Amino acid sequence: MRIIDRVYIDGSFVEPHGEQWAPLFNPATEEQIGKVRLADEEDANRAVAAARRAFPAFSNTSKEERITVLKRLHAAVSERAGDLVEAMRVEYGAPSSFIDFAARRAGNVFLDMAKTLESYDFRRRIGRADVEMRPSGVAVAITPWNSNYSFICGKLSAAIASDSTMVIKPSEMSAIQTQVITECLHEAALSKGVFNIVTGYGAVVGAALTANRDVSKITFTGSTVTGRAIAQTAAATMKRVTMELGGKSPSIILDDADLEVAIPHVLAAGFLNSGQACIAGTRILVPESRRDEIEARLKEAAKVFTVGDPGDREVRIGPLVSRKQWDRVQGYLRLGQEEGATLLIGGEGRPEGLDRGWFVRPTIFSGVRNDMRIAREEIFGPVLCVLSYRDEEEAIAIANATDYGLQANVFSSDLERAKRVADRIEAGRVIINGAPHEPFAPFGGFKQCGFGREFGVFGVFGLEAFLEPRAVIA
Ligand code: NAD
Repeated sequence: MRIIDRVYIDGSFVEPHGEQWAPLFNPATEEQIGKVRLADEEDANRAVAAARRAFPAFSNTSKEERITVLKRLHAAVSERAGDLVEAMRVEYGAPSSFIDFAARRAGNVFLDMAKTLESYDFRRRIGRADVEMRPSGVAVAITPWNSNYSFICGKLSAAIASDSTMVIKPSEMSAIQTQVITECLHEAALSKGVFNIVTGYGAVVGAALTANRDVSKITFTGSTVTGRAIAQTAAATMKRVTMELGGKSPSIILDDADLEVAIPHVLAAGFLNSGQACIAGTRILVPESRRDEIEARLKEAAKVFTVGDPGDREVRIGPLVSRKQWDRVQGYLRLGQEEGATLLIGGEGRPEGLDRGWFVRPTIFSGVRNDMRIAREEIFGPVLCVLSYRDEEEAIAIANATDYGLQANVFSSDLERAKRVADRIEAGRVIINGAPHEPFAPFGGFKQCGFGREFGVFGVFGLEAFLEPRAVIA
């Protein structure tokens, strides 16, 4: 049983003022594996005070010093990649394919940010003005449970690069992972108060941080509903806000697509992180003329997406994070059938042979219309919808007929054609024929996926989201 009873404030692991405890579970077994003592409003405000005290000195460090700090953070996080993998497996249950990527990326974002910093010019001359990009002040990061340390490290790297100090509020369901990553970050020996980590409930700690007058910037990843509440509170003191919210991404299979290439990518994109991914490609758009063939192939190819113990490296889909999430997804599996969609594979209940653990049967609905709730709402589980279209125009119209716009996938044998379609998609990222991850491309969404971007080379996008231009005109 892991007991997490410290928060990280002002460079030390300290006893929180908050006295509430929350249980921690292994979602693959449903066993309680630990408990966490949660921070409260007072801890939140104490963490902001520490970040504020650290700000004047840290905001005047040189670019070279910050590059050195980022490299130290990379080394400290990479050193314990094995512990990070284990913590995410036990507490969250993601499949190895996802955890390996997340653990590597947690360290690498610091190196990528160091590269970005090297090429970024904080001062420029514009007419008679000397313009300097200055940090906006104390920043707050609020992060979800579906990729705990990737989000913590990604947001912290931007804060460090911009000369900002930061308070991080991770999800209360990820306390073991947060403990390991905090130990790594502590090893990098940053000045006291430069980063602080307080795990607690969103409605308590998250709300206190969002309302605190000494916070200038919020970077949030989570649901659209919570993002809206945070943006409203933040508006009272005009905090700068970056929002990375939900998604309902389309995977468009054009009629000339090579299905040998497209089908495995479509399924991998849809079942990514056991379906608990904001970028998951959950709407599969198929040409009516090839629907039967594509559905038969999807059904066959889905067999390799085995569900089970995330400790088994062959497993492609792990359990969902919590009982609450399991119940929510079961609700959508019922709803889809009530709305008139048919099951190509999967359905309600647990997969055969798994009688405990929050496992869901990988499901593909066929005959889905884009006005059905299963096609419009983020389900956040391994549940995909097949929608058919008559021609390219209709495919683009369906892809864009959503409140979201985070990511889209396009498959075609003709690269120029795929690019022409991509140009008309309202999404922050369009991936063609399953292209690999590009860490220097900006990340973020159109429409209700939020606003602002993270990452991006030459400092534009992610880094500049933490900066304010100051013009001195002589
Ligand atoms: P959530 O919105 O419930 O919680 C996210 C974080 O916000 C948690 O730390 C939570 O404690 C905190 N929070 C909750 N209420 C708050 C409040 N009133 N004030 C301040 N903070 C508050 O989301 P979740 O269930 O943890 O995560 C799943 C959601 O996150 C999905 O909708 C998913 O699409 C989204 N997500 C988006 C991205 C992205 O980059 N766009 C990435 C991963 C997840």
